[in-house]
Amino acid sequence: MKPVTVPFFISHQGCPHTCVFCDQRTISGASGSLPSGEQIRTRIDLWRSTAGNRPLEVAFFGGTFTALPEEMQADLLEPLQPLLRDGVLSTVRISTRPDCIDDDRVAWLAERGVRIIELGVQSMADTVLAASGRGHCAADSLNAIRCIKNFGLTVGAQLMPGLPNDTPETSLASLEQVILAGADFLRIYPTVVLKGTELARRYTAGEFVPLSLDRGVSLCKLLLQRAMQTGVPVIRIGLQADQGLSGETVLAGCWHPALGQMVRSRMYADLVDHFVASGACATVYCHPARISDVIGMGRSNLLRQAERGVRIEAVPDASLKREELKVLTENTCTIYSILKDITYSIHEV
Ligand code: SF4
Repeated sequence: MKPVTVPFFISHQGCPHTCVFCDQRTISGASGSLPSGEQIRTRIDLWRSTAGNRPLEVAFFGGTFTALPEEMQADLLEPLQPLLRDGVLSTVRISTRPDCIDDDRVAWLAERGVRIIELGVQSMADTVLAASGRGHCAADSLNAIRCIKNFGLTVGAQLMPGLPNDTPETSLASLEQVILAGADFLRIYPTVVLKGTELARRYTAGEFVPLSLDRGVSLCKLLLQRAMQTGVPVIRIGLQADQGLSGETVLAGCWHPALGQMVRSRMYADLVDHFVASGACATVYCHPARISDVIGMGRSNLLRQAERGVRIEAVPDASLKREELKVLTENTCTIYSILKDITYSIHEV
C-alpha cells in the first residue's frame, strides 16, 4: 500500500551554497525555521487521523538535510523514533546534496530510520554544474549513489534539464548515468526562472535562455520514455504549484502546474497521431489510471484529433498496462506502447 507522505520543508537550512536557480523560500513556501519536536508530532497526528489504513512516511524536503549540524538532524529525527518502533511510521525520507553524503552519514541516518535519500543531482555534466553554481561535480553524485546503495537504502535522483550550458544531449546523458549508477527513482524538474535569483538576473540581462514550455515538454517526453524503458520510475515531473510558485514568482522557463500530466498526455496523443489515419473513427482503450491523460487536459487530445478529422472515444481497460493503448478501428485492433512504438529524437527538442 502506498504510504501517505507527511511533508516537512527544511528551507535553506544548513545550505552554504547559492545555486543560480534557487530561492528556497519561494520553492518551499516556508520562512526558514526548523519544525520543533512538538510541531512534528502534531502534524504527524493530524495526517494520521486522515490516513486510514495506509502507512505513514515522513519526508524532509528542500534544503540540505545532512549539512545541518548533527544535533539539529538528531532533533528532527528523534521525535520519529517511537513512531517508527510502534509501526506508526514506515519510512523516513530526506533530501540532500550529493557532496553532503558519505558512508558515516548514511550509517548515522540509517540507524535513525531513514530509508530513502533523494539527491539533488541536477546534472551529470560538470560544465552545467559549474555554470549553475552548484559547487559539486558529477563524481560526487556517483559516489553518493554508491554510498546509499551500499547501505541498502533507496536512492532518488532529482534532475534539472535546461540549466545553463545544458543541452538535450547532456540532459539525456545525465538521466542515463544516474540510472546506470543505480538510482531507484527520479524526479525531473525542468528549470524555471524564479524572481530574485541569479538566474533571473541572467535571464533579464539576456545571458540565459530558458527552456520554453513546449521545448521542455518535448525534452521530458524523451527523458520519461528512456526512464520507462529502463524500468526506473519517474515520480514527479515539474515543481508543484502548491510550493509557493505562481505567475508572481515564476519569471520564465518550463513551468505548468500539471506538467507531468501534460507530458504523458502528449505521449498518448503522439501514439494516436502516428497510428490512427486522418478521417478515421477509433475507440482507444487504456489503463483506467491513464484515462484523463489519454483524453488530455480540457479534452485537448480529443480536440487535437478532431482537427485532423479523427473521432476517438477513450475507454478504460484494466487489462492494459499503463504505457499501452489498444486502438480499435473499423478493420483493426492493435495494442501500441509508448515504450517502443514511438521514437523521440533529441533533434526534435
Ligand atoms: S544546494 Fe539546494 S538549498 Fe542550497 S542553494 Fe542549491 S538548491 Fe538551494
